Amino acid sequence: DAQDLWQKDKNHFIHPFTDFSLFHEKGCDLITDSDGIYVEDVHGNRFIDGIAGLWCVNVGHGRAEIGQAMAEQATRMAYFSTFNNLSNAPATELAAKLAELAPAHLNHVFFSCGGSTANDATIRLVHYYFNRLGKPTKKRILSRTNAYHGTTYMAASLTGIASNNWQFDTLDLVTHLSEANCYRRPEGMSEAEYCDHLVDELEQTIERLGADNIAAFIAEPIMGAGGVLVAPQGYHSRVQAICRANEILFIADEVVTGFGRLGHFFASEAVFDTQPDIINVAKGLSSGYAPLGATLISDDLYAVLSTPQGPGGVLSTGFTYSGHPVSCAAALKNIEIIEREGICENVLEVGPYLESQLKTLASHETVGDIRGSHFMMAIENVANKTTKALLPVEARVGDRVAAEAQKRGLIIRPVGHLNIISPPLIWTRQVVDDVVAILDEAFAATTRSLKA
Ligand code: PLP
Repeated sequence: DAQDLWQKDKNHFIHPFTDFSLFHEKGCDLITDSDGIYVEDVHGNRFIDGIAGLWCVNVGHGRAEIGQAMAEQATRMAYFSTFNNLSNAPATELAAKLAELAPAHLNHVFFSCGGSTANDATIRLVHYYFNRLGKPTKKRILSRTNAYHGTTYMAASLTGIASNNWQFDTLDLVTHLSEANCYRRPEGMSEAEYCDHLVDELEQTIERLGADNIAAFIAEPIMGAGGVLVAPQGYHSRVQAICRANEILFIADEVVTGFGRLGHFFASEAVFDTQPDIINVAKGLSSGYAPLGATLISDDLYAVLSTPQGPGGVLSTGFTYSGHPVSCAAALKNIEIIEREGICENVLEVGPYLESQLKTLASHETVGDIRGSHFMMAIENVANKTTKALLPVEARVGDRVAAEAQKRGLIIRPVGHLNIISPPLIWTRQVVDDVVAILDEAFAATTRSLKA
């Protein structure tokens, strides 16, 4: 029963990213059921899912056909190794399907278990690539403040969110550049000048560290957990051009932006006019129905990685679950649904409506900025709209807004002073209207409670 489950959880489950002061006080909220855009808790309360689980349930909940595909694969052949040239049909089919969907030059796929392991594997492949080219000093990776790339030690080191890493060591392989934060850009700078400023910083950093010591630049096309930050126009393509000129690989972490969230299977080329050497995906790849990550590699890189080295020359990296048949079967069915139901088209149609309706919340006292693109949005809460000063951390404003929304039947994600909205990609205009009405009340209630 509910109380028994709650107690077992409190006694035994260490939750990821737990604030123990809240956990000891409240324990967990048990989500037990789901259907389409809804999830339900153990007490039978139903909520609109405003976060697609965790930026991942792109096709929505309760898709029986994905469950069936997984069950069929699990009963036929749940697992066998993909090491040493062994393979399985779903992994092979999925690799070919990803090559078909991806930008034309990305035709080779390395599977992992999720986003962190995709990024981790990527850095190993990048180092392997430069070692094979006889350029072993090209090791350092450029990332950005407030980037989120995961929590294995390498992925956490790429991550630039200070509060994530304050109790951990990080690997001294990464240099963090400034985030591209248009809302908090230096006073008096136009967006175009801000872009120049960020590009200058990159050029100066390359000069300081030496291009011979830099292997790659990694970025999310829109920074996600770091605050849904949309870079100034032209930023990504200018960065890529500089990387190219310095033989620095350009890696796009599309763990969130991939599989439809911005209206395309891959946002890098379609939205940001870049041709990354490597694209990483996870989350929406299987819509979260099974753990899976993938690293898509360009033909040029593959040519170097795959040059035979003779006996003993093995590309010795990979996971037991690389190309897991059940996860790959889930991903294949998920992709079939996205294509068959025109889910990217839905995002292109409803996404701008979501953006415009969320912007009607700007009049609330705490709402400083409403930003993002399509089904990847955030609201930044502030104490003062003119100075953009933040409320004190103890006010827990993001938590307050999320709690007020949840009371009214909507789950959104609090991240510090922000609230993130990253729904399943099947929201309609009607759902958007219902959600914005709830948020309107939630922000009003938050303002009242902050004054109480
Ligand atoms: N990269 C990005 C952009 C992410 O948002 C995340 C997770 O939120 C990750 C990587 C890590 O993925 P995972 O939690 O599956 O390891």
